[in-house]
Amino acid sequence: MPLQYDYIAIGGGSGGLATAQRAAEYGARVAVIEPAPLGGTCVNVGCVPKKLMWNAASLAHGIVDAPGYGFEVTLRGHDWAALKAARDAYVARLNGIYEGNLARRKIDWIRGTARFLDAHTIAVGEQRLGAEHITIATGGRPIVPQIPGAALGITSDGFFALAERPARVAIVGSGYVAVELAGAFAALGSQVTIAVRQDRVLRHFDTMLSMALAREMAGDGIALVTHAVPAALTAGAAGRELHLADGRVLGPFDCVLWAIGREPLSAALDLGTAGVTAAEGFVITDALQNTNVAGIYAIGDVTGREALTPVAIAAGRRLADRLFGGRADRHLDYALIPTVIFSHPPIGTIGLTEAAARELHHDAIKVYTAGFTPMYHALTSHKRRAEMKLVCLGPDERVVGLHVIGQGADEMLQGFAVALKMGARKRDFDDTVAIHPTAAEELVTMR
Ligand code: FAD
Ligand code: NDP
Repeated sequence: MPLQYDYIAIGGGSGGLATAQRAAEYGARVAVIEPAPLGGTCVNVGCVPKKLMWNAASLAHGIVDAPGYGFEVTLRGHDWAALKAARDAYVARLNGIYEGNLARRKIDWIRGTARFLDAHTIAVGEQRLGAEHITIATGGRPIVPQIPGAALGITSDGFFALAERPARVAIVGSGYVAVELAGAFAALGSQVTIAVRQDRVLRHFDTMLSMALAREMAGDGIALVTHAVPAALTAGAAGRELHLADGRVLGPFDCVLWAIGREPLSAALDLGTAGVTAAEGFVITDALQNTNVAGIYAIGDVTGREALTPVAIAAGRRLADRLFGGRADRHLDYALIPTVIFSHPPIGTIGLTEAAARELHHDAIKVYTAGFTPMYHALTSHKRRAEMKLVCLGPDERVVGLHVIGQGADEMLQGFAVALKMGARKRDFDDTVAIHPTAAEELVTMR
């Protein structure tokens, strides 16, 4: 006889833990199935250790800036191993806190890998578990390209395992992971090359952001190689060499990191046995997170929607509200999701890019911009500019896109996201008194 639950979450990452805990708070009997330490990608090999690396890199920049403010300091080196040990200890502490959170809510943690036996029965090794409601929250993993020698490279998972800082690094890719890890490596002392297969980094974001970040990265000594389609990776006495499709060879490097996106982790689930439909491994869901099979749901990265921790959490909590909290229509609205890229300087962005807005709404779009050197840099030798853009729609100038790169953009965005979600117009921004002296005030004083 299977062990019977009201609700099973497959995956103990951001989404699985959030939905399980919310369901248990409503009194449901819940199990979470997870083979690895609790917390998933975000806690173990994502947001959390990445943000600590970003903090370390920001401190390195701060030390370079400090003499301008009268400090007698120089950046003389960095103990990567000590930072890794402290970071790992912090992550282990979080793993324990998550375990305690489950125990406190009387949620069973089943350690192992789940696969479906039928729509309501799961196998974990020899164990059998049954539930009326099952949520798939198995996340994803980094893609490794199918080219000769690819195994000589690492991914973001390998980045967090590095025991020492490699001196010469190539990062292949142009998205979030590529620019974030390039910034961390460079600030902590590595010589960094980013190889992008098109003409720029962050091609899927507003052009202003990708151009400004490319400029700032160049200022930090990061080399950008464009139109670089990887064809092979080889290892020689001098290091690894990246062979490009057009015959160019980059390197030698001590470390080559693939940052070309992530793929869903669903093959082990035997989705076909339960009749669940997927497309290239992504579990297909409707607006309420339902799959095509009654009683089976999916949330988070495995659904192929915005792959962000708060999105997985929000979808998971709302699903539990719906299934166990009596809130029949509760679901996540995927429109206007704010996101931050922890580059140097950071980027905060929400809504339509200027190009997407013009394609959709043509002449009904009006754009306001600002570009300036933040006052922080008045006294520093290395200067970083800030750029901002508001994309406004229609005669009442509803703000449908807001894009910022510059110091503080990461903390600036959350409040502005509330305003956009509420339908703010340009005149609401104009009517808000500025806070001086800040960089954020530029967003309410644009003309
Ligand atoms: P995950 O957190 O990946 O959890 C899935 C869990 O399911 C895993 O623990 C896995 O072991 C388990 N699992 C898989 N298959 C099975 C199975 N068959 N049985 C049982 N368990 C299984 N997002 C942000 O919002 N901000 C950031 O700053 C940020 N930084 C990131 C940095 C990096 C380097 C990366 C890679 C990602 C980052 N993300 C960030 C994205 C964020 O980590 C993910 O969007 C988030 O973790 C997705 O949560 P999830 O629950 O869908 O999946
Ligand atoms: P992304 O999807 O962000 O970027 C990967 C980029 O690599 C693509 O956009 C593409 O850019 C390029 N690429 C794809 N295939 C190849 C290839 N075969 N060869 C060379 N380049 C290729 O993926 P990431 O791995 O950076 O991140 C995955 C997701 O994790 C993100 O989308 C985000 O949702 C999440 N994340 C969030 C973070 C945050 O919130 N701060 C931080 C890190 C990750 P192009 O088409 O221009 O070539």
